[in-house]
Amino acid sequence: MYRTHTCGELRIKDVGKKVTLAGWVQRIRKMGSLSFIDLRDRYGITQLVADANASADINNEISTLGREFVIQALGSVAERSSKNSRIETGEIEIKLLGLKILNKAEIPPFTIEDNTDGGEDLRAQFRYLDLRRGPLQRAMHLRHVMSQETRKYLSSVGFWEIETPVLVKSTPEGARDFVVPSRMNPGEFYALPQSPQTMKQLLMVAGYDRYFQIAKCFRDEDLRADRQPEFTQIDCEMSFVERDDIIDTFEGMIKHLFKTILNRDFNEPFMKMPYKVAMDDYGSDKPDIRFGMKMHEITDMVKGKGFGVFDSAEYVGAIAVPGCAGYSRKQLDELTEWVKRPQVGAKGLVNIKIENEDAVKSSIGKFYSDEELKSIAESAGAAVGDLVLIMSGPARKTKIALGTLRIEMGNRLGLRDSSVFAPLWVVDFPLLEWDEETQRFYAEHHPFTAPKPSDMDKFYSDKKEDLEQVNADAYDFILNGTEVGGGSIRIHNSDIQERMFQVLGIGKEEADYKFGFLINAFKYGAPPHGGLAFGLDRFCALFGGQDSIRDYIAFPKNNVGRDMTLDAPSEIEKVQMDELCLKTVSPAEK
Ligand code: ASP
Repeated sequence: MYRTHTCGELRIKDVGKKVTLAGWVQRIRKMGSLSFIDLRDRYGITQLVADANASADINNEISTLGREFVIQALGSVAERSSKNSRIETGEIEIKLLGLKILNKAEIPPFTIEDNTDGGEDLRAQFRYLDLRRGPLQRAMHLRHVMSQETRKYLSSVGFWEIETPVLVKSTPEGARDFVVPSRMNPGEFYALPQSPQTMKQLLMVAGYDRYFQIAKCFRDEDLRADRQPEFTQIDCEMSFVERDDIIDTFEGMIKHLFKTILNRDFNEPFMKMPYKVAMDDYGSDKPDIRFGMKMHEITDMVKGKGFGVFDSAEYVGAIAVPGCAGYSRKQLDELTEWVKRPQVGAKGLVNIKIENEDAVKSSIGKFYSDEELKSIAESAGAAVGDLVLIMSGPARKTKIALGTLRIEMGNRLGLRDSSVFAPLWVVDFPLLEWDEETQRFYAEHHPFTAPKPSDMDKFYSDKKEDLEQVNADAYDFILNGTEVGGGSIRIHNSDIQERMFQVLGIGKEEADYKFGFLINAFKYGAPPHGGLAFGLDRFCALFGGQDSIRDYIAFPKNNVGRDMTLDAPSEIEKVQMDELCLKTVSPAEK
């Protein structure tokens, strides 16, 4: 037996016991004739001590030890004279009676402590060392508990966990597919699933009502922050349900996770906010409702006063930033530059400062009287001491830009506290989104989302304006301004599915080739069904109070999609290429 206890286990009640521990050397300290070793495993740290009574052998072994050596230590548990209240084993230490080196270690490339000196790339390359550190261990543990509690809850309410294949057919859901060549079918490719969407729908046709899976999904997208080419979903589907049956079921799961993992209670139902309200009030379909600073439309009240920019604008909107009337010219200039960055895309920024009851100052003071400025500020919800920030332009674009500014001001004012949780559902999404560039509709959620039954006439209309107004029973679960989950009631009728492909500009032949299996399945008794999926990585990061999902993935990819530990992707051998009937073409030749 390598060990009798772990390094996180022994307490004062164990004093006098003879124990054997095994683990990694975190630190060695010498104080006169005494040597102290901090021994670490994933359970904790225990102090070992070689005192004057320790044998010469033990002292010899200690003199050869280095950081991260793997050792086995035999000793007796003793009460410490100077206790360490910061660690759970801090009241005891192990007086060494024997010590064996199980394996040596090279000097690690960075310090393996909670605060490390290692840069991101280095830590990614030596991920197995980084994973030894406390913050990552805690992240991995949180993820483990999230998965277990998810399984426990869903199983307890009748869901079956069913695995679906990873080598599937390319059925685009909006992103690019990763593909895998088939050796046995030369020239043909599998795709890795962007999600198990169509397979879970087939399971509904099969009658396997209440399915879930903790599933790997793969999307070959350019990586934005907080995105990974492979990520994990808690993927779920139910039959014979309406929207609120699904929302209620998964609200139960979410509340269970909050309770069991963070000991937080949510006694009220989560808010359901229509998509339109989210866009109008927050300029985002994933509103952060931890703070107010809502957007207010002031288009009508600012027109006709000679300020050309507002006169010609489709939309003028404002937010009131609390307590910021004292912003200097320099600060406002900086903010104006900030909103002009391509990521925000505003043309400019107008401000009104309510300095006190009598004094308003504004960058558009020459066009509006003080009274007018005050009433504009009031409409924006401003009080004395507030700064009103105003943007104008095309409605949708400007609302999104103002929403982005709102989040930025929330950050600057410290209103986005990661220990506060503000969950909600955004509902009633449009079914389709028109893309000016390609002059076609895209599915707002995915092509399998059903139009609302009440919008069926518009769905069959040939007019763009009608189609733009079709809504879906689609919903997103939002936590602290982040989309954590999303789903919809699905199409379960082959004619409607075919019409959907037609609306999306997918011809009959292409639809049959790519989705024939699903359209056919719908001809054999498909039940009404719907579902949703949660992003497990992101859910974990939010529960852990972190922005980045990388810490919650054991071996994440970097921002150009490389696995730095395995050094993948990489070229494959010529024989493999030949077997697969593949040849590479250099990017230049392409
Ligand atoms: N498959 C969807 C997605 O990955 C989720 C769902 O509609 O259930 O976004």
